[in-house]
Amino acid sequence: MARSVPRSGFWLSLAICIADIAKVVLLMRFDLHLHTTASDGHLSPAELVIAALSAGLDAIAVTDHDTVAAVAPALDSAAGSQLRVIPGVELSATYDSRDVHILGYFVDCEDSTFLARLEVLRAARLTRAIAMVDSLAAAGMDMSIDEVLELTAGGSVGRSHVARALVDRGHAKSVAEAFELLIGRGRPFYVPKPGTSALDVLSVVRAAGGISVLAHPGVTKVDDLIPALIDAGLGGIEAFHGEHSSADRERYSKIAHEAGLLCTGGSDFHTSSSPGPGLGQVEMPDSVLRDLLHAAGSRSSRS
Ligand SMILES: [Zn+2]
Ligand SMILES: [Zn+2]
Repeated sequence: MARSVPRSGFWLSLAICIADIAKVVLLMRFDLHLHTTASDGHLSPAELVIAALSAGLDAIAVTDHDTVAAVAPALDSAAGSQLRVIPGVELSATYDSRDVHILGYFVDCEDSTFLARLEVLRAARLTRAIAMVDSLAAAGMDMSIDEVLELTAGGSVGRSHVARALVDRGHAKSVAEAFELLIGRGRPFYVPKPGTSALDVLSVVRAAGGISVLAHPGVTKVDDLIPALIDAGLGGIEAFHGEHSSADRERYSKIAHEAGLLCTGGSDFHTSSSPGPGLGQVEMPDSVLRDLLHAAGSRSSRS
């Protein structure tokens, strides 16, 4: 009897050890929705790669707003490491005057037609930022578009840069307050995005060889648009988004599964100080990454 205790202890330790190995071998850690300083994220592409490596991630997708400028530097930074970098983009679009965000995975970042389309989308962002700054300045909130653009460091300008400039000037206590009181949807200085049709955006992603995925439908509240987007060639739904509840995740996984679409997911990480799950912290099944890689592989082998 006395000897059976250490023996069972040995088997228990062995079982735990095997489980740990299985966890390392079988479970992938990845994040398929990330922003950098090329749009409104706070980490440079190289810093993002370092953060992903220190978080132990196996794969990331770089998905900046209306630009792929961070993809090549992120690929360079990750070269020779365990980290796989998936080229991506997050395109802003509208459908019936409602905001729709489309993620494009495995887009050809050197396709000149695609890059020209991205430039048009970025020009629309600039026009919108200027309109917001003009109306804020006209209401007595002294600021200039140059201050806003300085915060972009040459990347895609967005409302969060306007919000940061408002905070720097003391017109708002925080970025969140700037959105809540001034430039959020329905607030006095909100300027709607000039509309690029979501259907058009889907065809832009397709033409660039990419897979289009509806980003965070639970945040943009666009469930009713999903059937039309599927008809127009949508390839997947971002079921596992950082701001989705578990009910959202389950609902969108089911919709995607029934329609034969991919399910993707990610934190939508911008900065570690923003609320919500951090880099790589949205849990999702390994099949999410596996299926995306498989779909990308079968697309390139068809072409
Ligand atoms: Zn988005
Ligand atoms: Zn995003």
